[in-house]
Amino acid sequence: MEGQEIIAYASGNEEIVPKSGIAGFDRALANSLARLTRAFDVLPGFGYYDEKPGENNAYATPAVRLEKADGTVLFGTRMLQSLLQRRESPDAAVLAVCAHEYGHIVQYKYNLRNKLLANQSTVKRLELNADYFAGYFAGGRKLENSNFPAAVFAATQHSFGDINTSSKGHHGTPDERAAAVVAGYKAAHDKRLTFQQALEDGLAQVGA
Ligand SMILES: [Zn+2]
Repeated sequence: MEGQEIIAYASGNEEIVPKSGIAGFDRALANSLARLTRAFDVLPGFGYYDEKPGENNAYATPAVRLEKADGTVLFGTRMLQSLLQRRESPDAAVLAVCAHEYGHIVQYKYNLRNKLLANQSTVKRLELNADYFAGYFAGGRKLENSNFPAAVFAATQHSFGDINTSSKGHHGTPDERAAAVVAGYKAAHDKRLTFQQALEDGLAQVGA
């Protein structure tokens, strides 16, 4: 099973591994996660966990672990290894998934979930909204550093799209997911929306 948040397999109580153990990687990611915290004004715990064999996952939970205020993001070690094998900017692919998960933390903290899930038969709007926030983060980084590989964010989320449109767990098609990232990117990079403005725009962009 490849994807994000196949929650049926995750309890929220998984044993947390604090570091990937990959030299240099943990420090670089910690810097990026600190940027995410500043961009979104959320401070979740972050750690790794071991998925079951054959799974590939990362997820966000409101459960407070690691003594951080805003829930917890857990990243599967198999998901990490899979993303790091990508040829183009693997670190950015990992960060795109982290930014999406931090987007879910934003949804918890700012009470967006009820609006996003109202009258929906799937979680798609919730997921596309998290993709929007990932894109918003990438757009902000691109403003700071023109070499930032923002396009990798869209490509990564495109790769996790699915076509199970009638399944409750449908996250959006590949094109819908990439488009949500691009909308968030433009909100930050082109329209220069503040994060508060992006909270509203991010709902509107997914029809919530
Ligand atoms: Zn998600």
